[in-house]
Amino acid sequence: MSINVESMVKNYDLDKLSIATVASHTALQLLRAAHRYGFRTIAIAKPNVAWFYRRFSFIDEVLEVNFENFESIADYLVKRNSILIPHGSYVEYVGWRRALNMPIPTFGNRYLIRWESDQRLKMRLLEYAKIPIPKSYDNPDAVDGPVIVKLYGAKGGRGYFLARSRDELAERLASVRDSYIIQEYVIGVPAYYHYFTSRIYDRVEIMGMDIRYESNVDGRVFGLAEPTFVVVGNLPMVLRESLLPMVQRYGEQFSKAVDELVPPGMIGPFSLESIIRDDLSIVVFEFSGRIVAGTNIYMGIGSPYSTLYFDKPMDMGERIAHEILQAVRAGRLHELLS
Ligand code: AMP
Repeated sequence: MSINVESMVKNYDLDKLSIATVASHTALQLLRAAHRYGFRTIAIAKPNVAWFYRRFSFIDEVLEVNFENFESIADYLVKRNSILIPHGSYVEYVGWRRALNMPIPTFGNRYLIRWESDQRLKMRLLEYAKIPIPKSYDNPDAVDGPVIVKLYGAKGGRGYFLARSRDELAERLASVRDSYIIQEYVIGVPAYYHYFTSRIYDRVEIMGMDIRYESNVDGRVFGLAEPTFVVVGNLPMVLRESLLPMVQRYGEQFSKAVDELVPPGMIGPFSLESIIRDDLSIVVFEFSGRIVAGTNIYMGIGSPYSTLYFDKPMDMGERIAHEILQAVRAGRLHELLS
């Protein structure tokens, strides 16, 4: 089923738009910015966290929802002229299949969610974009160095494991029942880039970057625990400026690949997640086709890079609100939605 967003939005009162998002992940950043831009704001909360979101005056309404019945609020949201901003927790709570069919105008390209949730499709899109990715192995016997095994159900880093050699890999795979991919473990430092593809300005912007703070990787583990890559927070970063042209190029290549393979193409925020080797080559192992939680670092202050486009710092929430407002003024809102 495909949602006819254009006809839904035709009935919207554009002077009374609401921005709605699931109360988790980047909701504070998104709703704070939306409020500043004059939109009504709606947080869709699991009952156990609704109280927390009611603490903030920039949130006009907190809807308590059992996520098994998320569809039951769709009519209400549409009546409220809502644009749903998807993020990682939304996809996790409702699942990608339901997200594809949710009868609510959704910011960005919702069809990317499907590509993002399938490890093989994900790598295919990066490959198509001609972005360097880690070597992957169909046959465990071909492994000739350290590898990372990614189980299909993995979330937030949990569900990966490392094997230092072919023998260790064989031993560990013996007990795995899930589907998985085997990837070269790239040696280097992580760097995650936040981009924004603007339909209004017809360009790809570098809005910031971060590194993750991962429990058993960055913690005081002293060799006592296996790495689990469980993300607990994010830290800001800037890159050597000489690396920026490559980061820009990969962002543009990715955006173009989405335009070609996943209609209606890239719209709004996305992220490429990379390891930078000591020869300064960048290997991208993952993407997110929507806002990432690492952008929260810049809530209310904007990253240094964000100043390059509007001559003032902007967080990703504000960047989205700005795009929506410009699109409304130009009669192009439907172009930002799916
Ligand atoms: P992800 O959940 O896919 O973002 O990955 C969790 C963490 O695993 C990342 O933050 C990286 O530190 C690490 N990682 C994933 N894939 C690779 C790879 N191919 N090589 C090295 N590190 C990786």
